[in-house]
Amino acid sequence: MEDRLASPVQYVRGVGPVRAEALRSVGVESVEDLLLYAPRRYVDRRHCSPIGELREGETATVLAQVLAAGTARGRRPRFVARLGDGTAVLEAVWFQGLNYVQGALRPGDVVVLSGRVGSYRGHLQIPHPEFEVLGGAGEATEEGDLLEESLHAGGLIPVYPLSAELRSVGLASRGLRRILRNTLDAVASDLEDPLPEWLRVRRDLLALDRAYEGLHFPADPEEAEAARHRLAYEEFFYLELLLADRQGHRQRRPGQALRTWGPLVRRYLEGVGFTLTRAQQRVLAEIFEDLGRPHPMNRLLQGDVGSGKTVVAACTLLTAVENGLQGALMAPTEILAEQHHGRLRVELGALGIPVHLLSARLTSAERTGLLERLRSGEPGLVVGTHALIQEDVDFGRLGVVVVDEQHRFGVLQRGALPAKGTAPDVLVMTATPIPRTLAMTLYGDLDTSVIDELPPGRQPVETHRFPLARNERVEARVRIALEEGRQVFWVFPLVEESAKSDLQAAVTAYERLRSGPLCEHRIGLVHGRLRAEEKDAVMSAFRSGEIGLLVATTVIEVGVDVPDASLILIQHAERFGLSQLHQLRGRVGRGGGQAVCVLLEGDELTAEAEQRLQAMVETTDGFRIAEADLRIRGPGEFFGTRQHGLPGLRVADLVGDAPLLALARQDAFGLLAGDGDERGDALPVTEEVREGWRRTIVRRLGEKIVLGGIA
Ligand code: ADP
Ligand code: MG
Repeated sequence: MEDRLASPVQYVRGVGPVRAEALRSVGVESVEDLLLYAPRRYVDRRHCSPIGELREGETATVLAQVLAAGTARGRRPRFVARLGDGTAVLEAVWFQGLNYVQGALRPGDVVVLSGRVGSYRGHLQIPHPEFEVLGGAGEATEEGDLLEESLHAGGLIPVYPLSAELRSVGLASRGLRRILRNTLDAVASDLEDPLPEWLRVRRDLLALDRAYEGLHFPADPEEAEAARHRLAYEEFFYLELLLADRQGHRQRRPGQALRTWGPLVRRYLEGVGFTLTRAQQRVLAEIFEDLGRPHPMNRLLQGDVGSGKTVVAACTLLTAVENGLQGALMAPTEILAEQHHGRLRVELGALGIPVHLLSARLTSAERTGLLERLRSGEPGLVVGTHALIQEDVDFGRLGVVVVDEQHRFGVLQRGALPAKGTAPDVLVMTATPIPRTLAMTLYGDLDTSVIDELPPGRQPVETHRFPLARNERVEARVRIALEEGRQVFWVFPLVEESAKSDLQAAVTAYERLRSGPLCEHRIGLVHGRLRAEEKDAVMSAFRSGEIGLLVATTVIEVGVDVPDASLILIQHAERFGLSQLHQLRGRVGRGGGQAVCVLLEGDELTAEAEQRLQAMVETTDGFRIAEADLRIRGPGEFFGTRQHGLPGLRVADLVGDAPLLALARQDAFGLLAGDGDERGDALPVTEEVREGWRRTIVRRLGEKIVLGGIA
């Protein structure tokens, strides 16, 4: 019945072109998408009270129909809805957010409503109740009264994520239930379950048809949870199967085996002026072991801001040169590419290794010359931004690719640079710590190394919150810092690269500080609109200490390394995301000594902003920050996972279902590797079962998914 599941949703009775269009707007295109359109929550009808039995003063939930609703003028404008459930009538009243309720509640709607029961002029009233619309007046009701039906729906009433589009075509929760009933009646009897029975028994999972039934029409909370559990497991399972498949495929692919720990690497390490931390040594050993194998490396290097990833990257790139090959380092911003290039040129130039920068600054003759050298296969290193993955860039002998701050690149971009060589070794680095669950899904096909130790002598950055309004105090503090010879970053939010007004804030502040309170000090300004050479001039002046205060937009967010900077002020800190704040804070405290981060906050904070700022004050540990971020924002928003290619999980929740993900991963990797059960008997994964998985993966994750063969 695979074909049925893939059929367009119009296959379902009750869905015509108009409804199909509305469903598409919420991502439902096929019959399977519809079955996986999971309720946001369930209302337990057993906890609903008949209106006739309500008492004043109690907190109650009722299921009722809106009889009349409208705005009442008077001393205080208010919105009043009269609700009935056949036992009595109740009033709900709002004094705030009138526009919203007016749009959301219409006569005829069936709603679940809860709040504290009061009374007004002798009748029962709930002021400002929470409510959820289950079905609307606009819904086609062939089979009688909506309320009547809701009352007779099993013990639990599912509440679906609702959109205006869905509502307008009669597909609020009740309407959805009706077409879901039709769908299940049509497909359930011959639904094939891609998960074999022995696996379901092993993990205590419902069969597929029962899971869909239980998701949409559960008799009790236990059944709903069991259904969700099965479907969540399955989503993780296919994802991990795909990753396991890719990893297996890669591990079998031939690549170059490189000689490691050559004289160049040794001489470079002698010259850097510090000894590697134990974590750096361990990670380098892991990388070198990969490089030595006749298969391409594909490794993720995680290390908190300032943990010293660059030196590890340099040794990896050098190994390519040492083997007569080319190395390429890709960074997400011009400023960072310039910084890497500047450093490597000094440190490696001394060893006679050419280090090039492929930048927008090159004249066309210079660019042509450089591209020619890269194409010729001349051993050496090249550093650049996305410019490295432009079409006309070719490498004759690309041996090693390093992608810095990899989370800033999309998955496609991540793959584009390695594709310019024949199976080069790839190291992707990220300072943004990723909670384990997310790493398992986003980077589950990569081997992972972690630098879990900071260089000696680092002290945690002291972090304070301070109201923006008290500007003079802040400026006084900056002046003192500058007089003590400290270097200071002052960062302004730039929501969009093109947002002029945001840019203006940084420019204005710069002009004012320069001509006013800090006029005796040298102040620089850097933002994305400057030309590359202007940015470069300001950054090197700051790096050399010539400039004391650098006013900047978020162009300095990642990677910038100025060891003497010890104070950072973040303007409108409430506008930044948590991982962004952590990255920015990582710009200071990279040398010795106590560094300070001041979060300057506006006076209207959302609850989320409050949590973010508090998390910043409470910890400097990147992993704890990442967990907090995931918790506050939810997985969907977590540093734009969509852009990073996390295929939409519709039922599973990366936070709540983390243990389930671990299980599914273990199963998927084990099954593809041909692992046995506890007794060592091979598990019966027949070709037919594999074929079912293959089809499901393609159907769920898209035609474009590249399968290594699931062989
Ligand atoms: P990140 O991991 O954020 O990219 P960097 O590689 O830029 O960090 O290193 C941060 C700073 O720490 C740099 O100034 C670097 O020279 C210094 N550093 C790196 N490793 C060590 C070490 N083992 N001992 C002392 N300083 C180090
Ligand atoms: Mg870095």
